[in-house]
Amino acid sequence: MGSSALGAIAALDAWAAKANAVREKAGDGPSAMPTVFIGHGSPMNAVRDNSFTRFLRSFAGTVPRPTAVAVVSAHWLTDGVTAAGVQTRPRTIHDFGGFPRELHEVQYAAPGAPELARAAAGLVRNGDRPGMPTEAWGLDHGAWTVLRHLYPKADIPVFQISIDYPKPAPFHYAVGQQLRALRSRGVLVLGSGNIVHNLGAMDRGAADGPATRDWARSFDDAVALALSQRNDGALQRYEQLDTSARTAVPTPDHYWPLLYVLGAAKPDEKAVTVFEGFQSGTLGMRCVKFG
Ligand code: ZN
Repeated sequence: MGSSALGAIAALDAWAAKANAVREKAGDGPSAMPTVFIGHGSPMNAVRDNSFTRFLRSFAGTVPRPTAVAVVSAHWLTDGVTAAGVQTRPRTIHDFGGFPRELHEVQYAAPGAPELARAAAGLVRNGDRPGMPTEAWGLDHGAWTVLRHLYPKADIPVFQISIDYPKPAPFHYAVGQQLRALRSRGVLVLGSGNIVHNLGAMDRGAADGPATRDWARSFDDAVALALSQRNDGALQRYEQLDTSARTAVPTPDHYWPLLYVLGAAKPDEKAVTVFEGFQSGTLGMRCVKFG
C-alpha cells in the first residue's frame, strides 16, 4: 500500500471515529457492514409499490444501520478518472426523460459525506492517480430510486463514486477491493445496476416475475452460478460466461457495479441472493449481499 493510500486510511479512521462517537451517544455502536448489489430497474420503482420496492423497504432492517452509504451507480460514468462526490448536500439528479412529473418531483435530500468521500477517493488507485473529489454530479437515479426505499428518512449521509467506464473488468473489481476498507468503518458500499440490462429488448407490460426470454434467464442463471461459486474471475470475464452474454449485457454500464461489490466482498464471504426476478420481461432485478 502506497503512502497516499495509508493517508487515506488515516483520514477514513478519523472520520469513522467522529461518526461512531455520534452513534455511540445515540446508543448505536459501529458495525461492520455487508456490501450489496442492487438491480435497480426502471426509475419508476422510486414511486411504485411492488415486490422489489417492498423488498428494499424491508431489507434495510436486516442489516446494521450504516454510518454512511457509498454508491457506485451505473449512471455515473466518467472517462479516465474515478470521481467521488464531496458535496455537503448532493442534489437529486433526474437523469432521464419521458417519465411522469411525479418522478421529476422526487427529491432525496440526504446529506453528503465530504470528508468520508475524500478519504474514499484516497483509497482508490486509477493508474498512478487517486480518485478525484468533485462537486460535480450528486445523486443520480441509480442511487436515489433505491435509497428512497432503503432509507426513506434520507437521514444517512450518502456519496457516489463514479465508474471509469472504458476501463476493463479487472479495473472495476480492483477499485471495489480498494473500497473494501470502508465497510469495517460502518459504511455500506452499494452497487446499483442490473445484471441483465438490454433496454432495446424489454417486454414492456410483462408482469414482474420470471424472465420472458431464454437469453435473459440463461445469463442471470450463469451469473447466479458463478456468484455461488465465488468464481470472481469468471464474473469479470462475463462475455464468456454464457452465449447469451452479448444480448444480456450489450454494454457493461449496468454490469460494472456488480464487480465493485464483488471486489469489496472478502474472498471468504458467500454471495447471498436477497431478491431475484425480472421486470419488463428481461430486466434482471437480482440483488446480492456479501457479509
Ligand atoms: Zn439504470
